[in-house]
Amino acid sequence: MLEEPKISWINGQPFSDKYQDIYFSSDAASEVERVFINPTTFDDLSRTKPQITTLELGFGAGLNFCVTAQRFLDQKANGRLHFISFEKHPFSKKDYAKTFANLDRAIPFSSNLIDQAPALLPGWHRRSFVGGKISLSIFYGEAIEGLRDITNRHKIPIDFCFLDGFNPAHNPDLWSDEILLEITKNLRTDSQLTTYTAAGKIKRELKKLGFEITKVDQRPIKRESIFGVYKGPTFKQAPPSPREVHILGAGIAGATVARQLAEAAVDVQLWDPNGPGFGASRISASLLHGRLLGDQTADADFRVNAFHYSNNFLKAYSSFKQCGVLQINGSNMSTDKMLRIKKAYPYSDDWLQLLDRKEIEEVSGVKVKSKNALWFPDGGTVDLPRLCQELLNHPNIHLNLRQPELDSRAVKVIATGAHSLSEYPRNHLETYRIEGQIDFVKTKVTPFSPIVGDGYLVPVENNLCAIGATYEYQELSPNVATKQNLLRNFPIQLLSSIRYERGARCVSSDRVPVIGEFSNNCWISNAHGSLGTSSAPLAASIISSNLLGWIPPINRDVEKILVPHRFKERQNRRGELKSTKSFIK
Ligand SMILES: Cc1cc2nc3c(=O)[nH]c(=O)nc-3n(C[C@H](O)[C@H](O)[C@H](O)COP(=O)(O)OP(=O)(O)OC[C@H]3O[C@@H](n4cnc5c(N)ncnc54)[C@H](O)[C@@H]3O)c2cc1C
Repeated sequence: MLEEPKISWINGQPFSDKYQDIYFSSDAASEVERVFINPTTFDDLSRTKPQITTLELGFGAGLNFCVTAQRFLDQKANGRLHFISFEKHPFSKKDYAKTFANLDRAIPFSSNLIDQAPALLPGWHRRSFVGGKISLSIFYGEAIEGLRDITNRHKIPIDFCFLDGFNPAHNPDLWSDEILLEITKNLRTDSQLTTYTAAGKIKRELKKLGFEITKVDQRPIKRESIFGVYKGPTFKQAPPSPREVHILGAGIAGATVARQLAEAAVDVQLWDPNGPGFGASRISASLLHGRLLGDQTADADFRVNAFHYSNNFLKAYSSFKQCGVLQINGSNMSTDKMLRIKKAYPYSDDWLQLLDRKEIEEVSGVKVKSKNALWFPDGGTVDLPRLCQELLNHPNIHLNLRQPELDSRAVKVIATGAHSLSEYPRNHLETYRIEGQIDFVKTKVTPFSPIVGDGYLVPVENNLCAIGATYEYQELSPNVATKQNLLRNFPIQLLSSIRYERGARCVSSDRVPVIGEFSNNCWISNAHGSLGTSSAPLAASIISSNLLGWIPPINRDVEKILVPHRFKERQNRRGELKSTKSFIK
């Protein structure tokens, strides 16, 4: 279980009350270099290896990460750094900001961590910085759990390992034989390890596990630290990453996979006969907000992670406008449910707030009937067609309007939304096509922020809002859909519609997206329903991580509910397809 760190600030530097230890010494950044980086061949390898993987125990204030990332960038290397870390008592954004404001020397990279600090939610988080040059995979929770997950799900061996737990006498859990053994399972021969402690017990245990240990002179600050080179057998062989991937469909699902692979130096052949942002991704006023469930299910876990992942991912693109989103009462959102949702996320004040009526008026500028509302300050609007264009603007992505020669052995990703593909029959997937429409409507007043109730309302410009969206089990004519939209119960008067946008969502029978390996070497990102703006970027990360041999940034139980073969398993249990009538074939 996640626990807040109990920090005291002494001369502007964090001190752990729980472990009665400092997070770092007064020469903070220099100490990281002296103890963790300088004894290793980090600089040389940064310049020569296409991808460096560093594993750290004890993320703490994020100092090792930021100093290492800065050092990597300073080498002007062509490759990429993947930094994996674990933390049971994660800092908040404010704590990171305070730490780096008070350091002995500025670390320019640290503004990235502060800006994209993961929310205090248990499990895996991934952040990507500097156009994918630096990636952070961080596990919030018990290190041993996260490490076992790395052993099972991360295929790339570790190059450098920084053991940076608090003093072993104060925090023995992070130095247990079990932890050290688990680390070893992720190394290759000649992986390097550094640690602040020089405790005899740790040295002896590391030697037993196959490390050659050298003492590093740290006088006059302390006597010595440890540098070790692993001479045992390699347990993990990195699988070959695909050099080229073919993606079908240039909506948000396909374009986000394309971008993430392109940033990892994979060549992407993207094919869409209609060009980018054509299907459901033609909606120019789409909303990114939490769509939270407030329970402990894997689906709830997926949604909250998708929101945070997407929120950070989209910040790099001008088609995302971070303006906050207000969720008021609606037929699916009672005040009780709001309270439940807020309670489900104990450390959420910086990204989820429960507002009273007065506060609702302050953020929206309009009088709302709701007694309470949920406020997502980081939420916002996404112009999906423009986002797809922005995502594809990368030298490694090649957009084809005609189907290119497909090498049958090449890795493929299907992201064709509500469209079927004769080459990949998908009737066992149980996915439906649901049309929808938003209308751009004249209004007398314009709220300050988008409002979600029964449907949503997005301020576009003065006296113009986008409203929607219809959910058409039977396809409607645009006129009828406009009438439905104008009848929506919003706290402002809706005048007349001046234009509309229509698209077809792809929705699965269990309302959960379909993300994973579809058949051998063929992956799918589909059925994003009404939440593609938040689910598609995380789906892209799950798929690209799997293709690159990285741990996907979600927990195992969440990955399981997304996989395409779940329908087949259910069908096998039931003995038949539930109903094939309206499924996309
Ligand atoms: C009216 C409406 C309002 C919405 N509002 C929101 C919202 O506020 N927030 C939110 O999160 N989501 C919203 N959504 C849902 C969101 O738009 C979708 O989840 C998302 O766009 C799905 O993206 P996609 O890439 O999976 O599919 P699509 O965007 O449909 O893209 C599929 C692409 O595949 C291409 N294609 C088809 N056949 C082939 C083929 N054989 N080979 C190659 N390419 C092919 C198509 O040309 C298309 O470009 C809304 C949807 C609608 C319709």
